[in-house]
Amino acid sequence: MPIDPTLPYDDANIFAKILRGEIPSNAVYEDDHAFAFEDINPQAEIHTLVIPKGRYVSWDDFSAKASDAEIAGFIRAVGEVARAKGLVEPGYRLMANIGVHGHQEVPHLHVHIFGGQPLGPMICRK
Ligand code: 5GP
Repeated sequence: MPIDPTLPYDDANIFAKILRGEIPSNAVYEDDHAFAFEDINPQAEIHTLVIPKGRYVSWDDFSAKASDAEIAGFIRAVGEVARAKGLVEPGYRLMANIGVHGHQEVPHLHVHIFGGQPLGPMICRK
């Protein structure tokens, strides 16, 4: 079920539990501001999630309230993960779903990295 991105941050969400180490994940990267792990239900050959360590519900919340250091750290981490996976030369796709129309299911900001294959058109048409 898509979430309401205007609700306050919920510390019980699944990615908060992954960050706290309460739920296992296949981690691929970690630094002061970000954590990256493989999606449990991959939609492409490579499907990795990058999340900020801070308590941000969505891209909207993060872009409005995160510090410059958190934003820079997170953006750099996304690029670092993509480079480490060898995705720059073949290309890749980033996606951040927000709210109901974006079909966001987990209320902790995450950027999807898709790659490892041609990804086709940008979005399903109506
Ligand atoms: P959203 O639809 O919110 O943009 O994407 C949520 C993503 O989180 C989905 O691709 C889903 O497969 C992934 N996901 C949900 N629960 C877990 C989990 O417990 N572990 C991992 N690794 N990924 C999860």
